[in-house]
Amino acid sequence: MNSLTKETKLTIFYIVVAFTFSVLMRMIWIYQFSDTQSFKYAGQFMINTNDGYYWAEGARDILAGFHQPNDLSPATSAASQLTAFFAKILPFSFESIILYMPVFLSSLIVIPIILIAKSLKNLELGLIAALLGSIAWSYYNRTMVGYYDTDMLNIVLPMFLLWSIIWAINTNEDKYLLFTALDILAYRWWYPQSYSLEFAFFALILVYTLIWDRKNSYNYKLLAIMMFAMLNISELYRLPLVFIAYFAFKKEEFDKYIYYILGIAIALFFISGGFAPIWAQLKGYVFKSSVASTGEGLDLHFFTVMQTVREAGHIPFETFANRISGDTSLFILSIIGYLYLLYKQRIMLLSLPLVGLGFLAMVGGLRFTVYAVPILALGIAFLITEIASFMPSIKLKYLAMIAATLAILYPNYKHIDGYRVPTVFNANEVATLDALKKIASREDYAVAWWDYGYPIRYYADVKTLIDGGKHGGNDNFPVSFILTHPQKEAAKLARLDVEYTEKEFKNRDKNLTYSSTIEHMTKEYGFNDTNRFLESLKTESKLPKKTRNIYLYLPYKMLSIYPTVTLFSNLNLMNGTKYARPFFFMSRNFKEVQDKIVLGNNIYIEKKTMSLVVGNRQMALRRFVKTGYTKDMHFTKQVQNINFSGNLSLIYMSAYHTFLVVDEKTYNSLYIQLMVLENYNRSLFEQVISNPYAKIYKLKI
Ligand code: MG
Repeated sequence: MNSLTKETKLTIFYIVVAFTFSVLMRMIWIYQFSDTQSFKYAGQFMINTNDGYYWAEGARDILAGFHQPNDLSPATSAASQLTAFFAKILPFSFESIILYMPVFLSSLIVIPIILIAKSLKNLELGLIAALLGSIAWSYYNRTMVGYYDTDMLNIVLPMFLLWSIIWAINTNEDKYLLFTALDILAYRWWYPQSYSLEFAFFALILVYTLIWDRKNSYNYKLLAIMMFAMLNISELYRLPLVFIAYFAFKKEEFDKYIYYILGIAIALFFISGGFAPIWAQLKGYVFKSSVASTGEGLDLHFFTVMQTVREAGHIPFETFANRISGDTSLFILSIIGYLYLLYKQRIMLLSLPLVGLGFLAMVGGLRFTVYAVPILALGIAFLITEIASFMPSIKLKYLAMIAATLAILYPNYKHIDGYRVPTVFNANEVATLDALKKIASREDYAVAWWDYGYPIRYYADVKTLIDGGKHGGNDNFPVSFILTHPQKEAAKLARLDVEYTEKEFKNRDKNLTYSSTIEHMTKEYGFNDTNRFLESLKTESKLPKKTRNIYLYLPYKMLSIYPTVTLFSNLNLMNGTKYARPFFFMSRNFKEVQDKIVLGNNIYIEKKTMSLVVGNRQMALRRFVKTGYTKDMHFTKQVQNINFSGNLSLIYMSAYHTFLVVDEKTYNSLYIQLMVLENYNRSLFEQVISNPYAKIYKLKI
């Protein structure tokens, strides 16, 4: 170790300290829930992000060595491949690997942060920024233990890219040409949507070169090799191309051709379609309407998922600031520090794309804030080291730095301590899906709302119609219809949609696709109007040939999102008109006051007359239903008919301490009838699993 300089040793030491800190802070969650058995499955904690089950499915299938055609498993994705690789070489269970991968991979961010600071000749700046950047609010939220998603490397890789281009421009060493290009390849492999950020770095280096360093041929080499790495062609071609460029650039005789090489690289970039996805992404932010016409065929108007996704809204400044720095005043200090850093160290201008992407959160949603975290951590850390340098003694300087560092870490530690997110599923729900796995075949379908798509596929290994990645208005329509309509129509559409979904997969290869399964079946059944086709499901229409079994997965959890589920099928597909919203009211927080049961603000049941009072309107109840479970977990219900002229029913789900008030349309929906009341038509469905967490029915038609 003697050959290492003192500076190198200190760099390694700081990296180890910051990495350990980052890992330990992520273990707080494990410590907090160590006794919560419902968060564990197969002896390990389950993950807490829905999308993680997607990558987990792919990794499981890679390890198994097979999966079913058109099961939507991401077996070729980078996240699944890396997971399968770790599962093969490490002596831990698969469940442990997906739980801890975000902890260790996301903590790698401390390396580029400290190395960037090293190039600024300020290692303390690196340590302070790494401690903060690795655990600051939004970075923590998206990379905590169990947050098994691409986020675990989504900031690490561009930070390595930033480190590499800073060192390239500072040192003009050939090896950084290769590092930069390889990092772009790795980043694109890991996160195919990375092109915009890569392109922003490219554009910025170009501007930087033209303004300050026009005569330096090295910069043009850097730009050219970046372009080669960014071409919109397979990495199997880009990787050798990058190596050829690297070895050519090492030879001085190629220097005189560098402008031509760069010109060719840029031309190839545009010819290969490298700019097209960037342009498409920019245009994507314009689309705002809640009903989208498909613009072809029957010109159906579907409800878009955009407006139900919470993230896409505008966010208040305080939330934005907290997400980036943990606190509003720390955020402002970070901005001041960052501007000062840019002023003192011009090279840091290269970090603008990350900060810019972070600020896109103001319009694009919270998920963007995370990009600004490490850079603004460098900002506030710079402020701290600059102020500390004014201290009269070395001792005071370090004391000041330590005190200030603890102060900026504290709000973020408080956030971590309070951020006790649950696992996606609880042990009982997983046991239910595990039971389904034992009775269903891998080609069977489970029909469920999209939130449950990925976990169902992971735990039960069946196919699904919709999931966290496939939930456009056209995909959601049939499932929404099935869950919110009477059993007969719902059952028929379930069979139709599964068979037509498979048919679409087969047609895709022949270029015969329709814009939606619903359009496909409408036309094949000889209709030109989808409403008429859906109407025909109430009659004795013929169903397609049954190719597999279909199961309906109905969790109790879905109850609270029932009104959202209805939105997607409660409209006229021919013209986009939304129908009147069915009545659905749920109360888990009610209290009995004398002769009333108060369900919420301005809504109560008058016990004597068994009527519902909303504001000052009194409405007759049609029926009162009480459900529950016996000691040996048998479902029970008592139905009391009250007034047949009423349209509203009151349901008391005693086992869940939940009151429901629903109109006739909701009452007769498949979800309420099969999940809440177990009132199923035995010629259409067979109950295969029933417990308080979820009910699973097999379709008989
Ligand atoms: Mg499968």
